[in-house]
Amino acid sequence: MTNTNYPICYAVKNKNIDIVAQSRSGGAFTAFSDDVLEKGGVIYGCVFEGLKVLHIRAVSKEGRDRMRNSKYIQSNIENIYLQVKKDLDAQKIVLFSGTPCQCHAIKKYIGNKVYENLILIDIVCQGVASTKVWEDYCAYVSKKVKEPIVSVSFRNKKFGWKSHIESFYGNKKEYHSGIMRDLISNRYILRPSCYSCPYKNMQRQGDLTLGDLWTDEQMKLPFNDYDGISLVLVNSDKGQEIFNASASKTESIRIDITRCKQRSLHTQVEPQKNREAFWKNYKKRSFSYIISHYTTETRTNRFKKFIKQVVRRG
Ligand SMILES: Cc1cc2nc3c(=O)[nH]c(=O)nc-3n(C[C@H](O)[C@H](O)[C@H](O)COP(=O)(O)OP(=O)(O)OC[C@H]3O[C@@H](n4cnc5c(N)ncnc54)[C@H](O)[C@@H]3O)c2cc1C
Ligand code: SF4
Repeated sequence: MTNTNYPICYAVKNKNIDIVAQSRSGGAFTAFSDDVLEKGGVIYGCVFEGLKVLHIRAVSKEGRDRMRNSKYIQSNIENIYLQVKKDLDAQKIVLFSGTPCQCHAIKKYIGNKVYENLILIDIVCQGVASTKVWEDYCAYVSKKVKEPIVSVSFRNKKFGWKSHIESFYGNKKEYHSGIMRDLISNRYILRPSCYSCPYKNMQRQGDLTLGDLWTDEQMKLPFNDYDGISLVLVNSDKGQEIFNASASKTESIRIDITRCKQRSLHTQVEPQKNREAFWKNYKKRSFSYIISHYTTETRTNRFKKFIKQVVRRG
């Protein structure tokens, strides 16, 4: 069945504050996937494996918890479509979460067959960044701080959920910076296909769509937005069933769609005017040159400061 063009919109917050703290926005993904796991289903989603970003299959809460939080890099999805189909044919309930283009690819892969046991969750998606820049950046940080980086988190909530800070974790210390944030928001390093994305509209690919809900003073919500609220679009009857099934785990309130028509739901990202020059320089110059010319970090001297403001872990 085709999804509606007029989704029902909700502000959603997981009742468990630890889950909200570990999630990108209000922890809606955990609430929806809990219900599927409790029914013996399978979850597919995006994780960090060290510094690499990829999709995995999970049948436990521990595996699913690794999918929490946004990774702004393209996820490696090799072999996942095949596994999804196998699970569907074995009559398992399958929840696949990912970008709208990945959800569309799943539908293409399974063809015309309608699987009632497939639930798709797409995210509001600005675009994913170049894996090459990500790898170079990680190598740069590791060299700069003179220790291997073992894990990473985008948009660490300890700096507030509206901030965009990347946190790198060594064995004993952690380091913070906003270089990826700047290169993404300055529109230099998204994947080329993201600049002409056909999914920036309300005809969503998922039964449910998840995003960040940015509130304003007129939006009176019965819960606080201090540590994150999810925007949830219910796009199909199946989506509404999942939403209702998780109701005991969340606080939620219906909101007017006109209040949350954020850019990534309706407008393609324009490449930066000097993007070509950026890439020419990227190929020729050092990573420090890129930082000093295309990000605010060196201009404000914040990167050096952040790198120096190391915090001993544990
Ligand atoms: C690349 C990217 C761009 C985004 N752009 C916007 C935006 O412009 N506006 C907006 O409102 N929200 C955007 N989001 C969505 C938002 O950041 C949260 O992912 C969403 O609100 C879910 O939060 P949560 O607290 O419910 O769940 P969390 O528990 O934080 O769930 C994370 C979910 O995101 C999926 N995911 C994480 N990284 C990736 C990835 N690289 N590829 C595919 N799936 C991934 C996981 O599989 C999981 O389902 C973006 C997310 C990503 C990954
Ligand atoms: S912006 Fe569009 S093409 Fe790029 S990852 Fe998101 S859904 Fe896919």
